[in-house]
Amino acid sequence: MPDREIVCIGCPMGCTLNVTVRDNQVAKVRGNVCARGVRYAKDEVLNPKRMVTSLIAVPGRQEPLSVRTERPVPKQLIFDCLREIRTAQVKLPVAIGDVIIKNVLGTQVDIIATRDLV
Ligand code: SF4
Repeated sequence: MPDREIVCIGCPMGCTLNVTVRDNQVAKVRGNVCARGVRYAKDEVLNPKRMVTSLIAVPGRQEPLSVRTERPVPKQLIFDCLREIRTAQVKLPVAIGDVIIKNVLGTQVDIIATRDLV
């Protein structure tokens, strides 16, 4: 795994982190102002995660239901997650925060509604 330069998103300072990787481990992080930068660098290099947002078509409705993961999921599962969302069935009414897909792909993360739809 080559050394990486990434931008920490832990706060608005956006420190540029230089991450030295050895034997698939983070050996050194430079450029961070605080310890959160080290944690972020390790997560981003070794186990990157992302929030997923999407829309679900609702039969009989022109407007789709907007949804998102309640927490970030592993980056390599984004497209599988989108496929699960695309094929989900929605029963109205839906309130913001309702679980639309429980434990998507066994990640322990739910897909939740981000709006009311009645
Ligand atoms: S390293 Fe610390 S100060 Fe820098 S962007 Fe990340 S959280 Fe903010």
